[in-house]
Amino acid sequence: MTNVEERPSVLVVDDEPRILDSIRDLLSENFDVVATSDPLAALEILNGAQFAVILADQRMPGLTGDQFLVRAQNLSDATRILVTGYTDIDALIRAVNDGQIHTYVPKPWEPAQLRVTVLKAADHCRETLRRKEAASRLAEQQAALARSEAAFRQQTKLLQSILDSMGDGVLVVDENGKMVLLNPAAEAMVGRAAFETPHSAWSESIGIYRPGTGTLYPPEELPLSRAMRGETADGVELHVRNPRHAGDLFVSVNLRPLKDDDGRSRGGVAVAHDITGRRRTQELLQRAKEEAERANRAKSEFLSRMSHELRTPLNSILGFAQLLEMTSLPSDDAEAVAQILKGGRHLLSLINEVLDVARIEAGRLSLSPEPVHLPEVIQEALDLVRPLALERSITITGLSGNSDFWVKADRQRLRQVLLNLLANGVKYNVDGGRIAVAVDPNGYGAIRTTVSDTGPGIAAEEREKLFLPFERLTGESLAVEGTGLGLALSKGLVEAMGGVIGVDSTVGKGSTFWFDLMAAESPAALHPELEGLAGADSGEAAARSVLVLYIEDNPANMALMKRLTETRPGVQLIGAPQARLGLDLARVHRPDLILLDLHLPDMSGHEVLEQLRRDPDTGTIPVVVVSADATPEQVDRLLDSGAQSYVTKPIDIGSMLGLLDSVLSDPIENRLPTANRSDAG
Ligand code: ADP
Repeated sequence: MTNVEERPSVLVVDDEPRILDSIRDLLSENFDVVATSDPLAALEILNGAQFAVILADQRMPGLTGDQFLVRAQNLSDATRILVTGYTDIDALIRAVNDGQIHTYVPKPWEPAQLRVTVLKAADHCRETLRRKEAASRLAEQQAALARSEAAFRQQTKLLQSILDSMGDGVLVVDENGKMVLLNPAAEAMVGRAAFETPHSAWSESIGIYRPGTGTLYPPEELPLSRAMRGETADGVELHVRNPRHAGDLFVSVNLRPLKDDDGRSRGGVAVAHDITGRRRTQELLQRAKEEAERANRAKSEFLSRMSHELRTPLNSILGFAQLLEMTSLPSDDAEAVAQILKGGRHLLSLINEVLDVARIEAGRLSLSPEPVHLPEVIQEALDLVRPLALERSITITGLSGNSDFWVKADRQRLRQVLLNLLANGVKYNVDGGRIAVAVDPNGYGAIRTTVSDTGPGIAAEEREKLFLPFERLTGESLAVEGTGLGLALSKGLVEAMGGVIGVDSTVGKGSTFWFDLMAAESPAALHPELEGLAGADSGEAAARSVLVLYIEDNPANMALMKRLTETRPGVQLIGAPQARLGLDLARVHRPDLILLDLHLPDMSGHEVLEQLRRDPDTGTIPVVVVSADATPEQVDRLLDSGAQSYVTKPIDIGSMLGLLDSVLSDPIENRLPTANRSDAG
């Protein structure tokens, strides 16, 4: 049927067809009218459609009007009207009051009144439906609310049990700084008093300090104060000290602001993690580390002192033994002196190694890393061990293929490492065995040098140990003379030069010791401007002729200086690769200028400078220090000892030539600019 809201439907039930017709005529202007004379058929109709009004005659065969309407009440929301005579008025009024029917229309009806009654009844039905719908909507909303309340309770319970079981403390304040939540872990840290104490008084009342200072935490810096200001931070450390804890408590706090959907601040939350145990372990570790470092320093200091003390008497032993050796002695005595010298020299090398290891451990080893031509140094080391190898018929294969590499190293120390590895290759080899030396770039900017032998090899578990001081392999190799210091020293030296050292080995076949050092450019390649410099280009300066002595052990630096001086025809360069030779040459030739490297094989440059200054023959010759070591302390020390100037490596060609030119052109007393400390530093 039609919608009650638009054109309502009316069901008319009356056993008299004439009445049915007249009612239909009366109502059809406003309503869709369905008429039937059979009340049972009317019930069927109600099952399948919606009506706004039902009009039923009281007297019908089979089912009376009121009986019909009572049953219709269960099937439809329509307003029910009984059409009847006045005979049973009391029963009718009861039916109206009980709600079985809405109203009644007396017979015979007044057509206008019937129409008005039905129109009102339709309104009533509309109203009833609206109320019913509102009620059902309300019921639905209430059910949804009840469901969400249950879910919320469930959620709260879950959160509560998480908070209760958490080891970390959770603290929440509202926007006024009032404590609103403390889980049990937080309560154990700060106590329930936190609920009563204003947040600004927390540091004092709870005992919150800045770790390691003993000063109270400024209230405005407390994590919750910061969170309330909208800050976020992790790992803020606090020190809590109060009677609740037997010892001190350290916590690490993460803090977050709390905001509502509109971004307004609603307070802050802090999660505090107890780090007391971790801190204590750290402190213990730190103390143990400091203790170990102190002990290690003490040991190195002791070793270093002892070595110095031992060297003085040893000097006399070796010195006098050498004097004795020169005299003609009976052969037994000569043999005894030879033994004293052998033992003494062994002791001296041992002391030197101990001293070096101690220096490395104390971080006091002074190195002069500069570009070093690797094949040259390898050749020098090979020349030194060849006689040893020959004694045991060991063949040494030197470098083959392209080995023209430069590395960043201290030349003397690099040679020392190579000597150690090569000497071991001989010492721990079979008679008639082989040693091979090779160099190879590793592709990552480093050059690897390897020394392989055909000795007994080293088991994997022993390999790392051998690089520790005084560690030696047990078994056969113990019969070989040694101190167990060579590899420790080599490791210290390689690492001090920025490299790494290691060993690969197959037991029964041999070992390969290797070390990697950073590749470097050759000094000549660093100074392409030299190529363009022709000789004799400073006509005026060439009028004089000066002699320059360069005391330097690194051939590459020497070669560079030679190229440089060749551009000044007035300058003659003589070189000394050792300090002592340099001192002798200075005395004999009295050069106009001495260029002095600091790291020399037999003596420090500083000592050379002092000897030059002390000697009246050389005391006035200007000395220019040329070194890679340009720490301000070092520069000051040398200038104070009488150096005229300080040039840092890599050499700046322009200033070096300027220096030579000033020597060439100026009278001797003011040849050189006075040393400028800030230049060198
Ligand atoms: P030293 O040779 O004075 O004992 P090192 O520190 O040079 O001290 O070597 C430590 C130990 O490592 C040696 O005693 C030896 O047992 C073992 N070792 C060193 N080089 C080799 C090698 N090439 N082959 C086998 N063992 C070696």
